[in-house]
Amino acid sequence: MLTDFERSRYEWQMWTDGVGESGQEKLKQARVLVSRCGGVGGVVAFELAAAGVGTLVLAHAGNLKPSDLNRQLLMTHDYLGKPRRDSIEERLRALNPLIEIQAVGENISTDNADDLISQVDIVIDCAPLFPERYAMNDAAMRRGIPMIETAMFDSDITLTTFVPGRTGCLRCLYPEAPPYWKRQFPVFGAVSGVVACMAAYEAIKLITGVGHVLENIMLTADLGTMQFRRMPIRRNPACTTCPPLTA
Ligand SMILES: [Zn+2]
Repeated sequence: MLTDFERSRYEWQMWTDGVGESGQEKLKQARVLVSRCGGVGGVVAFELAAAGVGTLVLAHAGNLKPSDLNRQLLMTHDYLGKPRRDSIEERLRALNPLIEIQAVGENISTDNADDLISQVDIVIDCAPLFPERYAMNDAAMRRGIPMIETAMFDSDITLTTFVPGRTGCLRCLYPEAPPYWKRQFPVFGAVSGVVACMAAYEAIKLITGVGHVLENIMLTADLGTMQFRRMPIRRNPACTTCPPLTA
């Protein structure tokens, strides 16, 4: 199923233990939604495009501003004032023209979540605000598909992977939006990029079956002190959004 060029392009990652040609074929077949494609999601999308994930659905509204450019690595100076989705699409097509890219100039909401998520196998939540996060979570749980959950603030990052039937969901963790959550926050691209690469590898592990994803574990790190912690988390039995545990 892989072409000779694809075998050559992805050769070094196919050497990863347990991946091989069959793992690369799984990546080629995979469909992943990333929202949004800023400091975190843009780097997630870049890594997944480089790895040859076959279909990327990428949601990000609005026009590019100068203050985006310190971390949103799919955005380039030439696109200032123009739609972010166009910069996202051009950068990813230049990196990997072999994959399908559907860049959507909207953010996720309850209006479009079901439609967009019906097109994919995995959702990666890189949204800054809780209404978007909940809309993605609820649609993913309804469809029984995994959602990789990322967040960052200043030097702190958090990451976990929700797998319906095996873990809880975002509403188990946060039944209500935390009042301290802010639209704007301190961020170096080096910090958002770290959690982004980790989230991209969670998706690669889910797709190929190699390694272990962060099921029922919240990884937190303070990159200011380089302290990493793994905290156990569990499904809330009273949650009505995610399905009961089956394993
Ligand atoms: Zn739940």
